[in-house]
Amino acid sequence: SPQRNILAVNNIEVIYDHVILVLKGVSLTVPEGGIVALLGANGAGKTTTLKAISNLLRSERGEVTKGSIEFEGARIEAQTANELVRRGCIQVMEGRHCFGHLTIEENLLTGAFTRRDGHAAIKHDMEMVYDYFPRLRERRSSQAGYTSGGEQQMTAIGRALMSRPKMILLDEPSMGLAPQLQEEIFEIVKKLNRQEGVSFLLAEQNTNIALRYATYGYILESGRIVMDGVAKDLRENEDVKEFYLGVG
Ligand code: ATP
Repeated sequence: SPQRNILAVNNIEVIYDHVILVLKGVSLTVPEGGIVALLGANGAGKTTTLKAISNLLRSERGEVTKGSIEFEGARIEAQTANELVRRGCIQVMEGRHCFGHLTIEENLLTGAFTRRDGHAAIKHDMEMVYDYFPRLRERRSSQAGYTSGGEQQMTAIGRALMSRPKMILLDEPSMGLAPQLQEEIFEIVKKLNRQEGVSFLLAEQNTNIALRYATYGYILESGRIVMDGVAKDLRENEDVKEFYLGVG
């Protein structure tokens, strides 16, 4: 049977402050169980695309003015970010948004805020997060603000996992991390995808690492998708090599 899409973005336009047109008709799909990379330079519109999907644009005075967004076949443009989290679609923001004054464990617990099941289920999932991120178990009582960049990124992803997502929108997971830690984070993304069935749409400036872990990629330039294809083909494409992989 044909593969179902967990997410379908159809020709969306986003305008900030009523006049600044930033997304000029962006379409993309994420198959169920897929890892899809959204690539492009700083300012291309990656974060705007993720925020349009998770309905986080309003606080930035941004608005989806055209197009449609479907999650599991249902239109979601009118759903609040919290409603979306409840349905299984959550964004991990760029810059590892943690609560710096809370411990790692308290940060993880805040990720369960939309859940209505009991303490035991939440405790169980916390152990699951610690199994994926053993470092977080070791540092569970440390104040998040004093942990390393890698640990904060892990905490941000772990916090998202506490909502039991079907899909995670991951914004620049590699940002500011040493290459070995980037690899560690992407390995965990792969494991979560394989073992928990979580689908990923990840925005990345680091084309090289993203295309090694993703199955499919889209390249965004000035608010338009200029190229897309299976990751392996994009890695071998001469233009991608020249402009995005730093070889050529
Ligand atoms: P980055 O890697 O910096 O996150 P990006 O590809 O995610 O880059 P966006 O952050 O989506 O790009 O920004 C796309 C464009 O929209 C940029 O030109 C940016 O200046 C503009 N922009 C972003 N947020 C706003 C806002 N709140 N008001 C006006 N313009 C904005």
